[in-house]
Amino acid sequence: YTSGLSPQAVYTNLRPGSYRLVVYASNEDGYWSQAPAVLEITIRPPVYATRLAWLCYIALTILFLYRWHRRSLRKLQERHQIELERNKYYEEQKSSANMLQFYTDIAHELKTPLTSIRMYAELLRDHDAELAPARRRGYQQIILDESERLSRLVGNVLDFSRLDAGRKRYSPAETDLAELLNTAAELCRERARTAGVELHVSLPGSPASCRIDRDSLLQILHNLFDNAFKYAASGKRIDLSLVRAGRRWEIRLRDYGPGVPPGAEEKIFRKFYRVDTALEAEVSGFGLGLAIARGLLRDQKGELKAVPADPGMQFIIQLPEEPEHGTV
Ligand code: ADP
Repeated sequence: YTSGLSPQAVYTNLRPGSYRLVVYASNEDGYWSQAPAVLEITIRPPVYATRLAWLCYIALTILFLYRWHRRSLRKLQERHQIELERNKYYEEQKSSANMLQFYTDIAHELKTPLTSIRMYAELLRDHDAELAPARRRGYQQIILDESERLSRLVGNVLDFSRLDAGRKRYSPAETDLAELLNTAAELCRERARTAGVELHVSLPGSPASCRIDRDSLLQILHNLFDNAFKYAASGKRIDLSLVRAGRRWEIRLRDYGPGVPPGAEEKIFRKFYRVDTALEAEVSGFGLGLAIARGLLRDQKGELKAVPADPGMQFIIQLPEEPEHGTV
């Protein structure tokens, strides 16, 4: 109620919304009006609480979150990029160090047989008349052996670069596997005898043939034999066998040496990889023989695997599968 002397009504802290002020009045006789005076009032929210303001707040929050997300994403990408570049740098450093080591090793490897060849050739030239025939033949044999070693080394390095560049050419032809294994074994007989290693060859009774590039298969066998003599001669025995496994022939070369440490069976196929032991430090090599052998086989749809044996190692050459009968 308000008196006529001060006709006002005060409402504070009204929430925004629509209100209706209804006023009844009475005269001095206490007679109240029947129909009230009505005043519709709309209280507007303050600017900071309008719908538009809320929309702005939401939009600003979304924008802020979006920018924050993009910034952290960019930071993450930058960090990743730095990481990549650092890795690339290390890889480059490593590979150039590897290449340098590779060239040094090659030079070193070539120098040893070259020095022997030169020395024995000079001996033959200067002392030919005084030399006993057996000794002369011995020197000639050394020259021959060392030049063979040289050409194998050069062949391996050349093959490696051809394989790496995908430029290696093959001449696949139907090959008698028993004859090829016998040839490979014969080439090693002398080395086996000198190293005191027994060489056992086991072949199937029936004929065995496969369509493959003969020279590359001989080289694969040579690399495996070479390793068996270099790293496993202490086992005093090497077994070479030819067995049938499903639709393909497998050549298995087993030695009885110290083998490789657990977990290194796959690593030994990586280029330049050599197991880090005293044995490898003494024995010459580039860490390429197995990488080349596997590359040569894979190029021809074959595979080369290393399986630890007890004792020693078994290398399995899986030759390409024969086409099914009736297919061309
Ligand atoms: P290289 O003989 O030139 O070092 P390879 O690629 O032929 O290179 O061999 C890689 C490594 O695998 C060798 O350095 C050696 O550590 C290991 N390895 C290969 N064959 C044998 C084996 N029959 N017995 C034990 N270790 C082997």
